[in-house]
Amino acid sequence: MSQFTAISRAKIPVGKEVPIDLSVWLLHHETTIRSTFFFGVLLLIAIWEVISPRRRLLRSKSERWVNNLLLTFLNTLLLRLLFPAAAVGVAAFAELHGWGLFHHFHTPGWLATILAVIILDFAIYIQHILFHAVPLLWRLHRVHHADPDYDVTTGARFHPLEIILSMLIKFATIVVIGAPVIAVVLFEIILNAMAMFNHGNIKLPLTVDHWLRTLLVTPDMHRVHHSVEDDEANSNFGFNLSLWDRLCATYRHQPRQGHEGMTIGIHRYHTPQMVTRLDGMLLLPLRGKVSEYAINRRHWSPKPEEER
Ligand SMILES: [Zn+2]
Ligand SMILES: [Zn+2]
Repeated sequence: MSQFTAISRAKIPVGKEVPIDLSVWLLHHETTIRSTFFFGVLLLIAIWEVISPRRRLLRSKSERWVNNLLLTFLNTLLLRLLFPAAAVGVAAFAELHGWGLFHHFHTPGWLATILAVIILDFAIYIQHILFHAVPLLWRLHRVHHADPDYDVTTGARFHPLEIILSMLIKFATIVVIGAPVIAVVLFEIILNAMAMFNHGNIKLPLTVDHWLRTLLVTPDMHRVHHSVEDDEANSNFGFNLSLWDRLCATYRHQPRQGHEGMTIGIHRYHTPQMVTRLDGMLLLPLRGKVSEYAINRRHWSPKPEEER
């Protein structure tokens, strides 16, 4: 049992208030709920990719899947060891002590839940931009971008240090806003499912994509972000709501070369040893000079006819 779960169990008057009962229940079943959604969505998108793929894969699917999922497994293990209470435990701790804006202003539970999910989504949008803008952070994040193909496992492929930093940023956001436990569980499930959906090598009818992306990030929208071209990679940072990219002018509709013609990955690093194998991915942040890339140092310049 985690530290926060123990605290919650000891002090929460079980049976008196429904929302707290729900919080306690969620704390106890969080791992089962999240694992069920993870494997369910993974299976669904994997089947979809076989039935209706968007692009032909360049590398062996089995080799990529084994290495990408090994990295995901390693990250899950690391998070469990470092943060056994997880984000949901931090939310319970903040709730118990009345920390954060929503608790301070006694915001109704339903409103705090909706707002917390939206704010957490905005926070990871900003965090994503930060990981592109700061050269040291880009070193970690390029492990996600170095995948020469784009499929459901790309969505779960991050360097362990990026995963740890992301978790700390999430903890801070939860504490500052006082996100309810249910909002955190909902957000984790949505983020996980959406990351697998929008990294899916799946074909959506263009009209469905068009309507869906007025609200959500679709596979075609996020694929632009995985382009080898710097200006395309520095767009479409959102994971769930497409609103943030539109509001902050980082939205790009389609890749110049089209979805079948575009090159996915990053400059310089493309050998299987560097970008497909687990050891190569773990060591990728150590390659190259520190100053070689940042968001404001684009190498690409458009031809006159491509300028808008
Ligand atoms: Zn990125
Ligand atoms: Zn991505």
